[in-house]
Amino acid sequence: MDRYERLMEFSRRRGFLWPSVEIYGGVRGFIDFGPLGTLMKHKIENKWRQFFIHRHAGLIFEIETPIVLPSKVLEASGHVEHFTDYLVECLSCGRKYRADHLVEQLTGIGGVESLSMDELNNIISERGLKCPECGGGLGDVKKFSLLFKTTIGPYSGDIGYCRPEAAQGMFLAFKRVYEACRGRLPIGIAQIGRVLRNEISPRQGPIRLREFTIMEVELFFDPEDPKCPFFNEYRDELLRIVPQSQANSKVFEPITISASEAVDKGMISNEWQAYFMVLGRKFAESLGIPFNSQFFIDKPPKERAHYSAQTFDQVVKLERWGYVEIAGYAYRTDYDLGRHMVFSGVDLRVYKQFDTPRVERLTRYVPKIDVIRGRLGEKADGILKSIDPSILEEAFKRDGFIEIGGVKLYRDDFNVIVENVEVKGKHILPHVVEPSFGADRIVYAALEYAYGEKNGRTVLSLPRDIAPIQLVVLPLVSKDGLPEFALKVYRLLLDEGFIVDYDDSGSIGRRYARADEIGVPIAITIDYQSITDNTVTLRDRDTWRQVRTSIDDLPSKLHKYFNYKLSFYELGVPFK
Ligand code: AMP
Repeated sequence: MDRYERLMEFSRRRGFLWPSVEIYGGVRGFIDFGPLGTLMKHKIENKWRQFFIHRHAGLIFEIETPIVLPSKVLEASGHVEHFTDYLVECLSCGRKYRADHLVEQLTGIGGVESLSMDELNNIISERGLKCPECGGGLGDVKKFSLLFKTTIGPYSGDIGYCRPEAAQGMFLAFKRVYEACRGRLPIGIAQIGRVLRNEISPRQGPIRLREFTIMEVELFFDPEDPKCPFFNEYRDELLRIVPQSQANSKVFEPITISASEAVDKGMISNEWQAYFMVLGRKFAESLGIPFNSQFFIDKPPKERAHYSAQTFDQVVKLERWGYVEIAGYAYRTDYDLGRHMVFSGVDLRVYKQFDTPRVERLTRYVPKIDVIRGRLGEKADGILKSIDPSILEEAFKRDGFIEIGGVKLYRDDFNVIVENVEVKGKHILPHVVEPSFGADRIVYAALEYAYGEKNGRTVLSLPRDIAPIQLVVLPLVSKDGLPEFALKVYRLLLDEGFIVDYDDSGSIGRRYARADEIGVPIAITIDYQSITDNTVTLRDRDTWRQVRTSIDDLPSKLHKYFNYKLSFYELGVPFK
């Protein structure tokens, strides 16, 4: 058994996670989180909130939007057209494979994600690749949509899709949140929620799922003022970056560079992007993934999503799969808002007031009423009333005409007046930077980094603030009033809001081992001395050292310990 198999066996046995639908034989690409896994996942989500939302209070706001979206939304976002993978089918046994993964598996070629359909077809035929299961020939590579399709309500024409990212709900809600919460740029909208992607043949357990939790921020900023107010604090922080030229190599040699230098040299497109990358690095470190086990890959254009002008994948090293992406940082520009504006016909621009009014040369279009009436007759007055002067310039530039109520009006139908005007502001479409994290992969990565052995026993050394159970209370023996006393301590800690277990079965050594295995940072033992002087011993999961402390200030000290304000040794006096 490799480490992955041991960890999955452990995760099933102790209730962290396992494949879904087990009693019906399972279904690939779905996992259940058990009691401990659910607690841990919630803690990771809350930690993410702390990093990416709460510390930007008043600037980044969390919302919740639906999983099912009408088809129009995902047509506008480009997902109906672009959110696809290449599929290839065995002509003999009918097995279906993700074409790029199969080519990589059979040839060892890197950078397969950027290959086109033709390139994949060529490699398959030139190298005579066959079905790895039955040796049969392979058919033509086809596009396969990763969107789960459904209908909304009883009408089969009302097509809906399950969202493949939380982002679109945030773009649709942008104007509301902007007006309700801040009324100016920059502003961020965040969301944690389930997404669905109909992956072709997921075979990587919790790493490649068809349904998973995403944690995303859409940060909207003025492209003429891309300054991030938090960047200064982090400008000297280091990032390990793999440049595009190396993105497809088998061996990565990341460059270590400060966030500010990476922005100044144009390696990272703007401060917001760099700021979120630093936060993402620190977030991963806080989950137990060291600086040297993670880096950011600058994705080449062909491998980026259709909406992105620059994408960095944050990858971490995992035993079985090598470097795996845990987060993507995409500079989405004004692509999404722009598309939704065109598809919905709703103006999603925001008004930007200039610090001081500017004098600008503006072109005004005044309709030649007589000409229009002469041509259109009675219809003319209705049409004239419906003209929106703000979109004329754009429409004439783009199409040479504007169409209103089925009638086309041309530039010649207007008197064009160019004049100097004092302008106090203008409407702009914000640009967007998006950090996007996969919660399930992160839970798995944190488990893998924590999973270790000491003296032949499993110890799950999770950072104390993501350990599912914080404390376990153990009476040394099950007699002489010790259990009663221990239960009082247990209830006291529950009332204080800690997540606590109580365990009185088996020897104290076995109970410590059970707690270590599921990562409980501190075991609290009640012994005979406890009854006489109201003290307890605290045992550290990782060092197995013990300290003794009074019960009176135990809750306040433990709160500080779990907030990293006290170390274990500051909790009491050494014992034994
Ligand atoms: P993306 O929008 O593709 O950049 O995905 C954002 C994040 O979601 C990635 O960095 C991963 O952590 C996670 N993710 C993407 N696809 C999957 C998947 N099939 N299963 C589990 N997590 C995924």
